[in-house]
Amino acid sequence: MLLEVNGLEVRYGGIRAVKGIELAIEVGELVCLIGANGAGKSSTLRAICGLAPVHAGSVRYGGVDLAAAPVHERPRRGLVMVPEGRGIFAQLTVEENLAMGAFSRDDADVAGDLERQFESFPRLRERRLQTAGTLSGGEQQMLAIARALMARPRLLLLDEPSMGLAPRLVARIFAIVREIAAQGVTILLVEQNARLALEVADRGYVMESGAIALAGAAPQLLADPRVRAAYLGEGAA
Ligand code: ATP
Repeated sequence: MLLEVNGLEVRYGGIRAVKGIELAIEVGELVCLIGANGAGKSSTLRAICGLAPVHAGSVRYGGVDLAAAPVHERPRRGLVMVPEGRGIFAQLTVEENLAMGAFSRDDADVAGDLERQFESFPRLRERRLQTAGTLSGGEQQMLAIARALMARPRLLLLDEPSMGLAPRLVARIFAIVREIAAQGVTILLVEQNARLALEVADRGYVMESGAIALAGAAPQLLADPRVRAAYLGEGAA
């Protein structure tokens, strides 16, 4: 297993946002975590990254317990997140944002990777000297993903990449997610758009009120009447 989460509990003061969940991801898998607003998806992702308070349980990555590892150790080990709301540096140029993505690396091929990102995202090449804050929402999401790829992730955590985007752009972002997975990057995708997430993923977990309510192969979850009724906008079949 590349990632093993056991008994994870996240608390904000008296609020138990995540109530002792189990989750595991093998190398090469594309796994999605779906559920309603406030179910605890982002808190789970942020806890894996060391950004939300872990009250109990463990997060093991590559066989190592990350509890004691400082936040900046994770990208160095290949665990990289694209945060909800993208988290780009609005005042920096596209190129500077991409360079920031490689901060955890000490090898020499950063320029080569920059070129590869520009090949994958021609819009970013065209706009490489523009400040990131002037990009459209879709371009900003592409920049956030490309910046994460600059860290050469083994495990990429994506938090709501479709948020606020028009349907055409959402489709493009999901195509990109699939391409990244095809290149061998393991992915954990948090999404409110359950249908699209289950269509690209190998496996999925459904979160409800801080707990894992259902888990299984993505096609199985897509066909599950409980998922269809609660998350795919269909009456129970
Ligand atoms: P969303 O899609 O809205 O991000 P989510 O499933 O990702 O939802 P979380 O953001 O993890 O859910 O939130 C889970 C619960 O924890 C919610 O009740 C939320 O209000 C609460 N919560 C999240 N972050 C904090 C925080 N920093 N302080 C206090 N409560 C928080």
